[in-house]
Amino acid sequence: MDQILQAVLDGAPGEALAELPLPESYRAAFVRRDEAQMFDGMESSAKDPRKSLHVGDVPLPELAPDEAYVAVMASAINFNTVWTSIFEPLPTFGFLDRLGKESRWGARHALDYHVVGSDASGVVIRTGSAVRNWSPGDKVTVHCNHVDDQDPSAHDDSILAANQRIWGFETNFGGLADVAVVKANQLMPKPRHLSWEESAVNALCNSTAYRMLVSHNGAPMSQGDRVLVWGATGGLGSFAVQYVLNGGGTPIGVVSSESKVALLHELGVEAVIDRRAGNYQFWKDEFHQDESEWRRFGKDVRGLVGEDPDIVFEHPGRFTMGASVFVAKRGGTIVTCAATSGYMIEYDNRHLWMKLKTIKGSHFANYREAWDANALVCEGKILPPLSAVYPLTEVGEAAYQVHRNLHEGKIGVLCLAPEEGLGIDDPELRAKVGEDRITLFRRHGA
Ligand code: NAP
Repeated sequence: MDQILQAVLDGAPGEALAELPLPESYRAAFVRRDEAQMFDGMESSAKDPRKSLHVGDVPLPELAPDEAYVAVMASAINFNTVWTSIFEPLPTFGFLDRLGKESRWGARHALDYHVVGSDASGVVIRTGSAVRNWSPGDKVTVHCNHVDDQDPSAHDDSILAANQRIWGFETNFGGLADVAVVKANQLMPKPRHLSWEESAVNALCNSTAYRMLVSHNGAPMSQGDRVLVWGATGGLGSFAVQYVLNGGGTPIGVVSSESKVALLHELGVEAVIDRRAGNYQFWKDEFHQDESEWRRFGKDVRGLVGEDPDIVFEHPGRFTMGASVFVAKRGGTIVTCAATSGYMIEYDNRHLWMKLKTIKGSHFANYREAWDANALVCEGKILPPLSAVYPLTEVGEAAYQVHRNLHEGKIGVLCLAPEEGLGIDDPELRAKVGEDRITLFRRHGA
């Protein structure tokens, strides 16, 4: 990989990159099938990604005609890498085995190791024979919607495809590695004003938040809407509040520390609730919720923005869903894409039907949505919430930080990039967007 890295750092033309020999193996972060039971019987919080995520060399798989190899300069930690590394709710090897049965190319994925990671920025180094729009030398980011475009179900919103998968979670050869194997229809232009690590942290969470709030497939949000965003400085939330601000709405950010409150204020979010200071006890015990606590929370939201929220941006799941359904305004929408605190959800259905509310499920984004969300990053209208950077060798620690909710925004991981700050091709746009704004989360996390 040294030759390839040097060529990328030297800005070698695509033709030169295409002629460099490919390595037989590459460095990657992976979990092992024979360790999938290592945390059995333990509490979720005690399961430690530092024990299950390994970094080592794996063989380079053959390239399918519709794929590209990407020399990964940087990647990011997403919560799905946490799920894979703690083998919850299921070990991800079952996904790989199912993909393995689908086709000759799918069979490559069913291995005894799973290379994880669902975000990347880097440079295309080879393309398969069927790839038209991308060539070696192209600087790219990668979105994680892995879709078989020969399946008819993939053609009216590809996220609805019967065999839609999340790359690096439900497929092998993910982004936390020096080389990634991706379908050409996962590629998007790298934002020219951002460094490799700033570029790498956006695609997954940005596209998900875009679909939930901006796309017609999501809530969607209108100007003037009040939008309650749980985890408003987290991976999803830090994009969600930016979309609400950009779209002429009023975000109400919920976070759990004074430091996060200050960060949101700096980002321009005025209405913020510190859920730890508020000490909301939505659950009296493991099985019973406390409606008076939902009411207290709702009163605090109304106290900040005058009305109940038109939209609730949901992802914590079991812990918050009862409160989310309760606080949404009459006719409002709860848009949800996850359940970090538990997926067996309980809410009071009377509040849903009597007040004509809607719960809308959402999952990642189709290529068009991911592309449009990426374009907003490229234009400097959405900022990268990069707060910390780890080398690939410390990927376990980086995932541990996210698992234990010790981070803000997104954690970047340097793969081939030897240091932070490389890869900025448009310093003028960077200056126009504002160094202070681009590095807000990084300075805060430092
Ligand atoms: P993240 O960076 O860890 O942020 C989540 C935020 O949620 C945290 O910052 C935390 O904020 C808040 N939170 C955590 N537990 C909570 C609880 N019990 N009650 C209230 N708030 C809580 O993770 P993320 O990247 O935003 O992802 C969040 C979830 O969405 C994960 O489960 C992930 O797997 C899922 N996800 C799904 C998709 C999809 O396409 N379906 C895409 C992306 C992510 P405070 O502590 O500051 O309140």
